[in-house]
Amino acid sequence: MKSASKFEKIAARGWNLLNEGKPFTPIFVVGTMVLFHFQDLLQGDIFPFLIGLLFTLPLFILYFYYDFPLFLRNYLWIPIIGYLLIFDSPNLALWGLGIGLYFFFTVFFWGTFYYHLRIRTDWLNFTRFWKLVLKNSDSTSGNAQEQLPKFLLLLAVWDGIMTILSADEMFQTISYFSFYGGVFALAFILHYFLFDWKPKQYESFTDDLHAPEESRNEKVIVIVIDGMRKERFYEANTPFLDGLVEKGTEYLNMETVYPARTVVCFSSMFTGTYPKEHGMKSNMVWKLGIKVESIFDSLRKVGKTGKMLGIAHLVDSFGKDVETVTAVMHKDQADRNIMNKAKKIMNEQDPDLFIVQLIGTDQIGHSRGVLYDEYLEKIEEADALVKEFVEELESEGKMDNTTLIICADHGQADGIGGHGHLDEGERYVPFFMVGPGIKQGEKVQEKRSLVSMTPTIAYLLGAPYPSHSRGPVLKEALKESWNQHE
Ligand SMILES: [Zn+2]
Repeated sequence: MKSASKFEKIAARGWNLLNEGKPFTPIFVVGTMVLFHFQDLLQGDIFPFLIGLLFTLPLFILYFYYDFPLFLRNYLWIPIIGYLLIFDSPNLALWGLGIGLYFFFTVFFWGTFYYHLRIRTDWLNFTRFWKLVLKNSDSTSGNAQEQLPKFLLLLAVWDGIMTILSADEMFQTISYFSFYGGVFALAFILHYFLFDWKPKQYESFTDDLHAPEESRNEKVIVIVIDGMRKERFYEANTPFLDGLVEKGTEYLNMETVYPARTVVCFSSMFTGTYPKEHGMKSNMVWKLGIKVESIFDSLRKVGKTGKMLGIAHLVDSFGKDVETVTAVMHKDQADRNIMNKAKKIMNEQDPDLFIVQLIGTDQIGHSRGVLYDEYLEKIEEADALVKEFVEELESEGKMDNTTLIICADHGQADGIGGHGHLDEGERYVPFFMVGPGIKQGEKVQEKRSLVSMTPTIAYLLGAPYPSHSRGPVLKEALKESWNQHE
């Protein structure tokens, strides 16, 4: 039941620099260039290297800002072709080094070595992981179809500028700047006209129901099965969760937020608003702490307590409201350990709101892919653990006046079980509620968003809506007597 250590929290943030695609691209290009020009740099020939970097900066910024999600990444080959037509052919040895290092980093270092140390996948994981890297469409560095054309162009341009500088043909850099103009125009047009699949956001704050003075429920318990893809959940054999679905209300079109990264989704679920307001825009967090009130703040206002149990990353958003479990653990023990700790917290602290993140399903998706049986087995394991947890609470009488919400924070796509850009399998998540005030056997077809989690919890526990809560209360699930309009 080990908590995440301080070292793990810092290491998790450090790893994100290499794991998230945006910071990875520049770090990787600089690293490759340093290795390639190591001899010259050792001999003190630093000037062309640095000037080359300076002149390449606009392209670095452009490729940091625009991430070319899903099929937009195909268009990244246009600048490469443009480059080959306009400029001297690139240094193929440099490209070879870049490609080699990239696949070494993703397939071996991350996909095999790192996962072995962290969750004990076996040493042959690269035999599967290479397929996932090639296919992956998320916003991580493992998205080969985005990263390859990005770093190949950056390497070619930087090295090309160094060549003109050493040949004393400084004026030629003008042609590079006009080239950047073309790449910028392409990026802008693509993102402006073709990037149209972001979920629609609620414009106004939660106002459809007055937060009641009295709480409806004594407790709300939320179990988030991280990264559980919806159709795979239906395919898995999950008798206990299926039973809960029957006893409660299921949302058939529950949409996650964009970008569908874990820290972003949790921050939205428990503040009721979007990344532009809560400030968590990826798993890579530059500034700790959400910028708006959370459901925990709301509960404090009415003298209630909330607790979240999850992996170290969630501390970046919710600070002391989170108790952590270490994510460095054998993949077959992670969820078992989380549930043991969850029971302990219920016994010792007995919070009014308790949120538990089960991480095993997401981990297996990322390390082994979602289209394999191992992924279904993890969902089935989660089913058994939820059963054990809920039945224990029932025997203690703690479920009598409790609403239980089960959901995923996002689905997972076909690649490295990746998620972020809302590829197929990511957007709609399993979501169902059960409890004394929740309708039985209800299926809600209307599209709803995970941001509604927060106002719904506030409503059930009689707390004010957090400052920026935007979603409507999920009132379709509430029995008539619980669903008081103003
Ligand atoms: Zn997640």
